[in-house]
Amino acid sequence: MTCSGKNVFTGTGIEIAFEQSIETLTSLENSSESYLAPAWIDLQVNGFAGVDYNDPRTPHEEIARSIRVLFSTGVARFFPTVITGPPQGMLEALRNLSRAKDTLAEGQAIEGFHVEGPHISGEDGPRGAHPRAWVRKPDFAEFERWQDATNGRIRIVTLSPEWPDAPRYIERIVAAGAVAAIGHTQANASQLSEAVAAGASLSTHLGNGAHAVLPRYNYIWEQLAEDRLVADFIVDGIHLPVTFLRVALRAKGVERSVLVTDAAAPAGCSPGRYRLGEVDVELTPDHRVVLAGQQRLAGSALRMDRALETVIRQGGVSLADAVRMATVNAAKAGRISRRQLGLVPGERADLVQFRFDPENKRIEIGATWLSGREVYRNSASAPL
Ligand SMILES: [Zn+2]
Repeated sequence: MTCSGKNVFTGTGIEIAFEQSIETLTSLENSSESYLAPAWIDLQVNGFAGVDYNDPRTPHEEIARSIRVLFSTGVARFFPTVITGPPQGMLEALRNLSRAKDTLAEGQAIEGFHVEGPHISGEDGPRGAHPRAWVRKPDFAEFERWQDATNGRIRIVTLSPEWPDAPRYIERIVAAGAVAAIGHTQANASQLSEAVAAGASLSTHLGNGAHAVLPRYNYIWEQLAEDRLVADFIVDGIHLPVTFLRVALRAKGVERSVLVTDAAAPAGCSPGRYRLGEVDVELTPDHRVVLAGQQRLAGSALRMDRALETVIRQGGVSLADAVRMATVNAAKAGRISRRQLGLVPGERADLVQFRFDPENKRIEIGATWLSGREVYRNSASAPL
């Protein structure tokens, strides 16, 4: 199979020949106006298109439908994310998702699982929308139960290093092949540096899941300054003020920055009430996902193509850099093999073809491939 367009990283015309992997890249004198890029990767998706991944009873055909909608946004690989809940509920949600991965054609898009919580801060503010009743200290035996339920597919765990046992826990999950991510935390400087020394390598949605009012020097600065931590950001125009986004991108540099959606079930839906694990959430007409009846944000209604547009518009980064933040950088942060180099022979043929309107910073997805299989084509748009 082949596809052609402009290489998003170089701007030059290319034809890509691929099976399951990219086989060759050939330069073209003239190419169409559409771009070719590695398909987007999303490290944090709680639900999408009305489907809640945190509910153990979510039917597999609903999970399949939500993944097809993700494909239409240019995402080919993602980490369904299970948040803080009762031990049995989290375990069953993970088991349900893992069975979906094994049985669905769309399951190939599930790269692994992200468990966000329950070993986070119990404090209002850093805890975010996670239910306080189920916050608990790090427990490696619980991690092993998650691994048993998912055939060892737990790949990211977000926790707070403020727990005394955090460094030892981080060492053990990293040794077991998971990425230890810092988030929903009020850890102090020494707790953060001990966590990094123990192997933590990622900051989860830095700037969110934090106190509304903070000391002048605080855990956000510490993580911004720590070059061993890659940071991911929810760039939906709602979660982060433009000035923080710009400062954070300068502090981390593009190479240490990753886009995530943190999408919840209402993403891609109309305003109204939805579920996120144990809690009721509401999608407001201005696209905020809040705890029902409150103002507290509880995930986003973001889709990754819109995140790219927003980081270009608000963060002042180039299209190529925005794509890096949603592809190769995410692959490195999530330790996804054969996705870390970009449009290079030998990489998995997860590809996206899209148009970009530089004036309005709009992306229109034309087609998405997952390991060489076309999983989405925009029939409404003109031929690409
Ligand atoms: Zn969170």
